[in-house]
Amino acid sequence: MKYNRCGNSGLLLPAISLGLWHNFGSVDVFDNGRNIVRRAFDRGITHFDLANNYGPEPGSAEENFGQILKKDFPGYLRDELIISSKAGYLMWPGPYGNWGSRKYLISSLDQSLQRMGLEYVDIFYSHRPDPETPIEETMMALDTVVRQGKALYVGLSNYTASQAEAAIQVLKSLGTPCLIHQPKYSMFERWVEGGLLDVLEKYGVGCIPFSPLAQGMLTDKYLKGIPEGSRAAKEHGFLKETDITPERLQKIQKLNELAKTRNQSLAQMALSWLLKDKRITTVLIGASSVAQLDNNIDALNNIDYSESELKAIEDILK
Ligand code: NDP
Repeated sequence: MKYNRCGNSGLLLPAISLGLWHNFGSVDVFDNGRNIVRRAFDRGITHFDLANNYGPEPGSAEENFGQILKKDFPGYLRDELIISSKAGYLMWPGPYGNWGSRKYLISSLDQSLQRMGLEYVDIFYSHRPDPETPIEETMMALDTVVRQGKALYVGLSNYTASQAEAAIQVLKSLGTPCLIHQPKYSMFERWVEGGLLDVLEKYGVGCIPFSPLAQGMLTDKYLKGIPEGSRAAKEHGFLKETDITPERLQKIQKLNELAKTRNQSLAQMALSWLLKDKRITTVLIGASSVAQLDNNIDALNNIDYSESELKAIEDILK
Protein backbone atom coordinates (compact mmCIF):
# COMPACT_ATOMS: atom_id res chain seq x y z
CA MET A 1 0.00 0.00 0.00
CA LYS A 2 1.05 3.54 -0.67
CA TYR A 3 0.24 6.16 2.00
CA ASN A 4 -0.36 9.79 1.09
CA ARG A 5 -0.33 12.83 3.32
CA CYS A 6 -3.82 14.25 3.78
CA GLY A 7 -3.49 17.90 2.73
CA ASN A 8 -1.14 19.78 5.06
CA SER A 9 -2.02 17.59 8.04
CA GLY A 10 0.09 15.07 9.90
CA LEU A 11 -2.19 12.23 8.85
CA LEU A 12 -1.26 9.67 6.20
CA LEU A 13 -4.05 7.81 4.44
CA PRO A 14 -3.82 4.74 2.21
CA ALA A 15 -4.10 5.58 -1.50
CA ILE A 16 -7.17 3.32 -1.54
CA SER A 17 -9.78 3.45 1.23
CA LEU A 18 -12.82 1.21 1.73
CA GLY A 19 -16.37 2.50 2.11
CA LEU A 20 -19.21 0.55 3.73
CA TRP A 21 -22.19 2.25 2.08
CA HIS A 22 -23.37 -0.87 0.20
CA ASN A 23 -22.70 -4.57 0.98
CA PHE A 24 -22.36 -4.21 4.77
CA GLY A 25 -25.96 -3.69 5.89
CA SER A 26 -28.43 -5.99 7.62
CA VAL A 27 -29.71 -7.07 4.17
CA ASP A 28 -26.24 -8.33 3.21
CA VAL A 29 -24.26 -11.48 4.08
CA PHE A 30 -22.24 -10.61 7.20
CA ASP A 31 -19.32 -12.94 6.50
CA ASN A 32 -18.87 -11.54 3.02
CA GLY A 33 -18.44 -8.03 4.43
CA ARG A 34 -16.25 -9.38 7.18
CA ASN A 35 -13.93 -11.07 4.66
CA ILE A 36 -13.68 -7.87 2.63
CA VAL A 37 -12.71 -5.78 5.68
CA ARG A 38 -10.15 -8.36 6.84
CA ARG A 39 -8.59 -8.62 3.40
CA ALA A 40 -8.52 -4.83 3.04
CA PHE A 41 -6.57 -4.44 6.27
CA ASP A 42 -4.20 -7.27 5.33
CA ARG A 43 -3.40 -5.38 2.13
CA GLY A 44 -2.70 -2.12 3.94
CA ILE A 45 -6.07 -0.39 3.75
CA THR A 46 -6.15 1.36 7.11
CA HIS A 47 -9.08 3.67 6.36
CA PHE A 48 -12.72 2.55 6.60
CA ASP A 49 -15.49 5.01 5.84
CA LEU A 50 -18.98 4.85 7.34
CA ALA A 51 -21.96 7.11 7.95
CA ASN A 52 -24.86 7.00 10.37
CA ASN A 53 -27.32 5.99 7.63
CA TYR A 54 -25.37 3.25 5.81
CA GLY A 55 -27.24 -0.01 5.57
CA PRO A 56 -29.99 -0.71 4.81
CA GLU A 57 -31.35 -0.67 7.54
CA PRO A 58 -29.85 2.71 8.37
CA GLY A 59 -27.27 2.19 11.11
CA SER A 60 -26.73 -1.48 10.34
CA ALA A 61 -23.41 -0.97 8.53
CA GLU A 62 -22.01 0.68 11.65
CA GLU A 63 -23.40 -2.15 13.78
CA ASN A 64 -21.87 -4.79 11.53
CA PHE A 65 -18.56 -2.95 11.38
CA GLY A 66 -18.59 -2.83 15.19
CA GLN A 67 -19.07 -6.61 15.23
CA ILE A 68 -16.19 -7.10 12.79
CA LEU A 69 -13.93 -4.92 14.95
CA LYS A 70 -14.87 -6.96 17.98
CA LYS A 71 -14.31 -10.32 16.30
CA ASP A 72 -11.23 -9.61 14.20
CA PHE A 73 -9.48 -6.46 15.38
CA PRO A 74 -8.21 -6.77 18.93
CA GLY A 75 -8.05 -3.50 20.89
CA TYR A 76 -4.48 -2.54 20.03
CA LEU A 77 -5.32 -2.58 16.32
CA ARG A 78 -7.58 0.42 16.92
CA ASP A 79 -4.41 2.49 16.78
CA GLU A 80 -3.77 1.27 13.24
CA LEU A 81 -7.22 2.15 11.92
CA ILE A 82 -8.69 5.37 10.61
CA ILE A 83 -12.47 5.10 10.98
CA SER A 84 -14.82 7.82 9.78
CA SER A 85 -18.52 8.52 10.16
CA LYS A 86 -20.88 11.26 9.08
CA ALA A 87 -24.21 12.90 9.75
CA GLY A 88 -26.24 15.08 7.41
CA TYR A 89 -28.88 12.91 5.73
CA LEU A 90 -32.14 11.67 7.23
CA MET A 91 -31.50 9.31 10.14
CA TRP A 92 -34.42 9.49 12.55
CA PRO A 93 -37.91 10.99 12.53
CA GLY A 94 -38.75 14.43 13.85
CA PRO A 95 -36.91 17.71 13.40
CA TYR A 96 -33.56 16.65 14.94
CA GLY A 97 -32.52 13.71 12.77
CA ASN A 98 -31.48 15.41 9.51
CA TRP A 99 -29.34 18.18 7.96
CA GLY A 100 -26.78 20.26 9.86
CA SER A 101 -27.91 21.48 13.27
CA ARG A 102 -25.63 21.21 16.27
CA LYS A 103 -28.36 19.13 17.93
CA TYR A 104 -28.38 16.56 15.12
CA LEU A 105 -24.65 16.24 14.52
CA ILE A 106 -23.65 15.78 18.14
CA SER A 107 -26.49 13.35 18.95
CA SER A 108 -25.81 11.39 15.79
CA LEU A 109 -22.12 10.94 16.52
CA ASP A 110 -22.99 9.61 19.98
CA GLN A 111 -25.29 7.06 18.34
CA SER A 112 -22.64 6.07 15.77
CA LEU A 113 -20.04 5.51 18.49
CA GLN A 114 -22.46 3.31 20.35
CA ARG A 115 -23.29 1.25 17.25
CA MET A 116 -19.61 0.69 16.43
CA GLY A 117 -18.58 0.18 20.05
CA LEU A 118 -15.97 2.93 19.82
CA GLU A 119 -14.91 5.77 22.09
CA TYR A 120 -14.01 8.02 19.19
CA VAL A 121 -13.94 8.15 15.39
CA ASP A 122 -10.88 9.38 13.57
CA ILE A 123 -12.80 11.61 11.17
CA PHE A 124 -16.30 13.02 11.61
CA TYR A 125 -17.99 14.68 8.64
CA SER A 126 -20.78 17.06 7.97
CA HIS A 127 -22.31 14.82 5.28
CA ARG A 128 -23.87 17.67 3.31
CA PRO A 129 -24.28 21.44 3.59
CA ASP A 130 -27.51 22.64 5.16
CA PRO A 131 -28.89 25.76 3.49
CA GLU A 132 -31.04 26.58 6.53
CA THR A 133 -28.48 26.25 9.31
CA PRO A 134 -25.77 28.88 9.72
CA ILE A 135 -22.44 27.46 8.61
CA GLU A 136 -21.00 28.64 11.95
CA GLU A 137 -23.40 26.36 13.85
CA THR A 138 -22.55 23.27 11.81
CA MET A 139 -18.82 23.93 12.05
CA MET A 140 -19.04 24.63 15.79
CA ALA A 141 -20.61 21.20 16.21
CA LEU A 142 -17.60 19.66 14.43
CA ASP A 143 -15.23 21.68 16.60
CA THR A 144 -17.11 20.56 19.73
CA VAL A 145 -16.84 16.83 19.00
CA VAL A 146 -13.09 17.19 18.54
CA ARG A 147 -12.79 19.02 21.85
CA GLN A 148 -14.95 16.34 23.49
CA GLY A 149 -12.50 13.69 22.26
CA LYS A 150 -15.19 11.99 20.17
CA ALA A 151 -13.41 12.72 16.87
CA LEU A 152 -9.76 13.35 16.10
CA TYR A 153 -10.32 15.22 12.83
CA VAL A 154 -13.24 16.69 10.91
CA GLY A 155 -14.27 16.82 7.28
CA LEU A 156 -16.85 18.06 4.81
CA SER A 157 -18.77 16.15 2.19
CA ASN A 158 -20.77 17.33 -0.80
CA TYR A 159 -19.96 21.03 -0.15
CA THR A 160 -19.49 23.15 -3.29
CA ALA A 161 -16.27 25.12 -3.75
CA SER A 162 -17.68 28.29 -2.19
CA GLN A 163 -19.47 26.45 0.63
CA ALA A 164 -16.27 24.52 1.36
CA GLU A 165 -14.19 27.69 1.42
CA ALA A 166 -16.58 29.33 3.91
CA ALA A 167 -16.63 26.23 6.12
CA ILE A 168 -12.85 25.81 6.03
CA GLN A 169 -12.43 29.41 7.16
CA VAL A 170 -14.89 29.04 10.04
CA LEU A 171 -13.18 25.84 11.19
CA LYS A 172 -9.82 27.55 11.03
CA SER A 173 -11.08 30.43 13.17
CA LEU A 174 -12.34 27.91 15.74
CA GLY A 175 -8.94 26.22 15.90
CA THR A 176 -10.02 22.90 14.41
CA PRO A 177 -8.66 22.68 10.87
CA CYS A 178 -10.63 20.95 8.14
CA LEU A 179 -8.77 17.72 7.37
CA ILE A 180 -10.51 16.48 4.25
CA HIS A 181 -13.33 16.90 1.76
CA GLN A 182 -15.32 13.96 0.38
CA PRO A 183 -16.89 14.75 -3.00
CA LYS A 184 -18.32 12.54 -5.73
CA TYR A 185 -15.58 12.34 -8.37
CA SER A 186 -14.92 9.92 -11.21
CA MET A 187 -14.35 9.94 -14.96
CA PHE A 188 -18.13 10.33 -15.27
CA GLU A 189 -18.60 13.01 -12.58
CA ARG A 190 -16.13 15.86 -12.78
CA TRP A 191 -17.71 18.87 -11.07
CA VAL A 192 -14.83 19.11 -8.57
CA GLU A 193 -12.50 20.19 -11.37
CA GLY A 194 -14.46 23.44 -11.64
CA GLY A 195 -13.05 25.04 -8.46
CA LEU A 196 -13.32 22.69 -5.50
CA LEU A 197 -9.91 21.05 -6.00
CA ASP A 198 -8.32 24.52 -6.21
CA VAL A 199 -9.93 25.54 -2.92
CA LEU A 200 -8.72 22.36 -1.22
CA GLU A 201 -5.19 22.89 -2.50
CA LYS A 202 -5.19 26.53 -1.41
CA TYR A 203 -6.10 25.63 2.16
CA GLY A 204 -4.12 22.39 2.41
CA VAL A 205 -7.20 20.19 2.75
CA GLY A 206 -7.10 16.58 1.52
CA CYS A 207 -9.54 15.06 -0.97
CA ILE A 208 -11.18 11.62 -0.86
CA PRO A 209 -13.39 11.09 -3.92
CA PHE A 210 -16.37 8.78 -3.36
CA SER A 211 -17.89 6.47 -5.98
CA PRO A 212 -14.67 6.59 -8.05
CA LEU A 213 -16.00 3.67 -10.13
CA ALA A 214 -19.33 5.46 -10.66
CA GLN A 215 -20.95 2.74 -8.50
CA GLY A 216 -19.56 0.00 -10.75
CA MET A 217 -20.24 1.54 -14.16
CA LEU A 218 -16.51 2.19 -14.62
CA THR A 219 -15.77 -1.53 -14.63
CA ASP A 220 -16.39 -4.24 -17.20
CA LYS A 221 -19.40 -5.63 -15.30
CA TYR A 222 -22.22 -3.99 -17.31
CA LEU A 223 -20.77 -4.54 -20.78
CA LYS A 224 -22.97 -7.58 -21.41
CA GLY A 225 -26.12 -6.54 -19.59
CA ILE A 226 -27.07 -6.23 -15.92
CA PRO A 227 -25.62 -9.18 -13.99
CA GLU A 228 -27.71 -10.75 -11.25
CA GLY A 229 -26.68 -9.53 -7.82
CA SER A 230 -25.02 -6.38 -9.17
CA ARG A 231 -25.85 -3.01 -7.62
CA ALA A 232 -27.99 -2.00 -10.60
CA ALA A 233 -30.02 -5.22 -10.21
CA LYS A 234 -30.67 -4.77 -6.49
CA GLU A 235 -33.84 -3.16 -5.28
CA HIS A 236 -32.03 -1.18 -2.60
CA GLY A 237 -29.03 -0.33 -4.80
CA PHE A 238 -28.55 3.37 -5.53
CA LEU A 239 -27.47 2.64 -9.09
CA LYS A 240 -30.47 2.28 -11.39
CA GLU A 241 -30.70 0.27 -14.59
CA THR A 242 -31.72 3.48 -16.32
CA ASP A 243 -28.36 5.05 -15.40
CA ILE A 244 -26.66 2.62 -17.74
CA THR A 245 -27.68 4.26 -21.01
CA PRO A 246 -26.54 3.06 -24.46
CA GLU A 247 -24.45 6.23 -24.81
CA ARG A 248 -22.71 5.54 -21.51
CA LEU A 249 -22.17 1.90 -22.42
CA GLN A 250 -20.42 2.97 -25.58
CA LYS A 251 -17.99 5.06 -23.57
CA ILE A 252 -17.47 2.23 -21.08
CA GLN A 253 -16.67 -0.12 -23.95
CA LYS A 254 -14.09 2.27 -25.39
CA LEU A 255 -12.54 2.95 -21.97
CA ASN A 256 -12.36 -0.79 -21.40
CA GLU A 257 -10.39 -1.24 -24.62
CA LEU A 258 -8.02 1.57 -23.64
CA ALA A 259 -7.48 0.04 -20.18
CA LYS A 260 -6.39 -3.21 -21.88
CA THR A 261 -3.59 -1.35 -23.69
CA ARG A 262 -2.34 -0.26 -20.23
CA ASN A 263 -2.57 -3.87 -18.98
CA GLN A 264 -5.20 -2.77 -16.49
CA SER A 265 -8.82 -3.58 -15.83
CA LEU A 266 -11.17 -0.67 -16.44
CA ALA A 267 -11.69 -0.41 -12.66
CA GLN A 268 -7.93 -0.08 -12.19
CA MET A 269 -7.70 2.59 -14.87
CA ALA A 270 -10.59 4.56 -13.36
CA LEU A 271 -8.87 4.59 -9.96
CA SER A 272 -5.35 5.33 -11.17
CA TRP A 273 -6.71 8.13 -13.37
CA LEU A 274 -7.93 9.90 -10.20
CA LEU A 275 -4.77 9.17 -8.22
CA LYS A 276 -2.49 10.74 -10.84
CA ASP A 277 -3.59 14.14 -9.48
CA LYS A 278 -1.48 14.96 -6.42
CA ARG A 279 -4.44 16.79 -4.83
CA ILE A 280 -6.23 13.45 -4.45
CA THR A 281 -5.23 11.87 -1.13
CA THR A 282 -7.05 8.56 -1.48
CA VAL A 283 -9.88 7.07 -3.54
CA LEU A 284 -12.87 5.73 -1.60
CA ILE A 285 -14.00 2.51 -3.23
CA GLY A 286 -16.79 0.07 -2.55
CA ALA A 287 -16.55 -3.67 -3.15
CA SER A 288 -18.99 -6.56 -3.03
CA SER A 289 -16.31 -9.27 -3.04
CA VAL A 290 -12.71 -9.87 -2.03
CA ALA A 291 -11.83 -10.40 -5.70
CA GLN A 292 -13.08 -6.91 -6.58
CA LEU A 293 -11.14 -5.43 -3.70
CA ASP A 294 -7.93 -7.15 -4.81
CA ASN A 295 -8.46 -6.04 -8.38
CA ASN A 296 -8.92 -2.44 -7.25
CA ILE A 297 -5.88 -2.35 -4.99
CA ASP A 298 -3.75 -3.57 -7.89
CA ALA A 299 -4.58 -0.27 -9.61
CA LEU A 300 -1.58 1.08 -7.69
CA ASN A 301 0.76 -0.94 -9.91
CA ASN A 302 0.36 1.65 -12.67
CA ILE A 303 -0.70 5.20 -11.89
CA ASP A 304 1.42 6.90 -14.56
CA TYR A 305 -0.18 8.27 -17.72
CA SER A 306 1.31 9.39 -21.02
CA GLU A 307 -0.04 12.55 -22.64
CA SER A 308 -1.53 10.46 -25.43
CA GLU A 309 -3.35 8.19 -22.99
CA LEU A 310 -4.81 11.19 -21.18
CA LYS A 311 -5.95 12.69 -24.45
CA ALA A 312 -7.51 9.41 -25.57
CA ILE A 313 -9.49 9.30 -22.30
CA GLU A 314 -10.68 12.89 -22.75
CA ASP A 315 -11.75 12.12 -26.32
CA ILE A 316 -13.86 9.20 -25.12
CA LEU A 317 -15.42 11.15 -22.25
CA LYS A 318 -16.27 14.18 -24.37
P1 NDP B 1 -17.56 2.66 -6.29
O1 NDP B 1 -17.77 3.66 -7.35
O2 NDP B 1 -16.16 2.15 -6.05
O3 NDP B 1 -18.54 1.43 -6.57
C1 NDP B 1 -18.41 0.23 -5.87
C2 NDP B 1 -19.18 -0.87 -6.56
O4 NDP B 1 -18.65 -1.12 -7.85
C3 NDP B 1 -19.06 -2.20 -5.83
O5 NDP B 1 -19.99 -2.31 -4.78
C4 NDP B 1 -19.28 -3.19 -6.93
O6 NDP B 1 -20.65 -3.23 -7.24
C5 NDP B 1 -18.56 -2.51 -8.10
N1 NDP B 1 -17.14 -2.87 -8.19
C6 NDP B 1 -16.14 -2.45 -7.38
N2 NDP B 1 -14.95 -2.94 -7.81
C7 NDP B 1 -15.21 -3.65 -8.91
C8 NDP B 1 -14.38 -4.39 -9.79
N3 NDP B 1 -13.06 -4.44 -9.63
N4 NDP B 1 -14.96 -5.02 -10.83
C9 NDP B 1 -16.30 -4.96 -11.02
N5 NDP B 1 -17.15 -4.28 -10.22
C10 NDP B 1 -16.59 -3.63 -9.17
O7 NDP B 1 -17.97 3.25 -4.89
P2 NDP B 1 -19.35 3.34 -4.05
O8 NDP B 1 -20.40 3.97 -4.85
O9 NDP B 1 -19.60 2.02 -3.43
O10 NDP B 1 -18.90 4.36 -2.93
C11 NDP B 1 -17.73 4.08 -2.17
C12 NDP B 1 -17.83 4.71 -0.81
O11 NDP B 1 -17.94 6.12 -0.92
C13 NDP B 1 -19.09 4.32 -0.02
O12 NDP B 1 -18.98 3.05 0.58
C14 NDP B 1 -19.12 5.42 1.00
O13 NDP B 1 -18.18 5.17 2.02
C15 NDP B 1 -18.68 6.64 0.18
N6 NDP B 1 -19.83 7.42 -0.32
C16 NDP B 1 -20.01 8.66 0.21
C17 NDP B 1 -21.07 9.46 -0.16
C18 NDP B 1 -21.19 10.83 0.42
O14 NDP B 1 -22.23 11.49 0.21
N7 NDP B 1 -20.21 11.30 1.15
C19 NDP B 1 -22.08 8.99 -1.15
C20 NDP B 1 -21.76 7.69 -1.69
C21 NDP B 1 -20.68 6.95 -1.28
P3 NDP B 1 -21.53 -4.58 -7.30
O15 NDP B 1 -22.28 -4.60 -6.04
O16 NDP B 1 -22.41 -4.35 -8.48
O17 NDP B 1 -20.60 -5.73 -7.45
